[in-house]
Amino acid sequence: VKIDTKELEAAVEEVVGRMGVIERFGKAADHIEGLADIETDRFGIAVATHDGGMVMGGDAETPFPIQSISKVFALTLALRAFGDDVWKRVGREPSGDPFNSIVDLERHKGKPRNPFINPGAIVVVDMLLDIAAKDETHKTVRDFLAAEIGEEIKVDRTIFDKESSGGFNNRAMANMCKFFGNLNHEVDAVMKPYVSQCAIALTCRQLALAGRYLMDGGEKPLEDESVRARRVNSLMLTCGQYDGSGDFAFRVGLPAKSGVGGGILAIAPGLASIAVWSPGLDENGNSLLGTLALEQLAERMGWSVFG
Ligand code: GLN
Repeated sequence: VKIDTKELEAAVEEVVGRMGVIERFGKAADHIEGLADIETDRFGIAVATHDGGMVMGGDAETPFPIQSISKVFALTLALRAFGDDVWKRVGREPSGDPFNSIVDLERHKGKPRNPFINPGAIVVVDMLLDIAAKDETHKTVRDFLAAEIGEEIKVDRTIFDKESSGGFNNRAMANMCKFFGNLNHEVDAVMKPYVSQCAIALTCRQLALAGRYLMDGGEKPLEDESVRARRVNSLMLTCGQYDGSGDFAFRVGLPAKSGVGGGILAIAPGLASIAVWSPGLDENGNSLLGTLALEQLAERMGWSVFG
């Protein structure tokens, strides 16, 4: 399917214009020191199209910590290395609880509900350390992003330091996974790369480029990589916005993953990889303007996985 570039450019411009006049931006994440000080009225968008185009607007070249969006790339690496064995250690169901909720973990004996909540990603990072132990050429999320984007990738040191010294709840969840035998490495050894991948700073343009592999799901016969893309997309749709995933699917209709840095990566399969950023969050920890912008862009372009 070809995208009308003029139409897309007009749509992006219109969305950026509308975001500029909104006066309710949400609240920046305050559970991570260092995220709280940013002005919430910032907004950026970048759309990488299937035919190799790039359309940008607003603060598309401002780097922000990708936070939980890193969970998508970590899962992709784990699926490449372990295939369906991944699902022995982490589930595929929406949690219905906040991203950093610990209650479910005890109920399910240390098996996190899905790879996109914090404990799920912590277990996935543990798997990535298993690959590292076996294979010198092992890829971290940072290596993966550098390869997909073709640029050097930076970690936000301030955020890394703040989350390393704090993060007591995340470490509690890692300890509970360890207690139930679902962590092969020591808690500290897992927390370091987890915190580091959360603190990776990307611009909207870079994030949209990084998501391109997820829009290629349509080729027949399906190659391994496109089967994986479909599966990652399905989890993004059902679990990508934590306990706001149902509402997001209803409003936007595209698989997406949010992070508390205010970024969202959304995929229009076969069409586009879309990155938005605005640091003000709604009550579920998802970017308020980012969600609104995706809703308006998807509607205007007629993009939806529901036909
Ligand atoms: N680093 C964040 C945390 O662990 C990631 C959570 C998120 O983006 N929702 O709290």
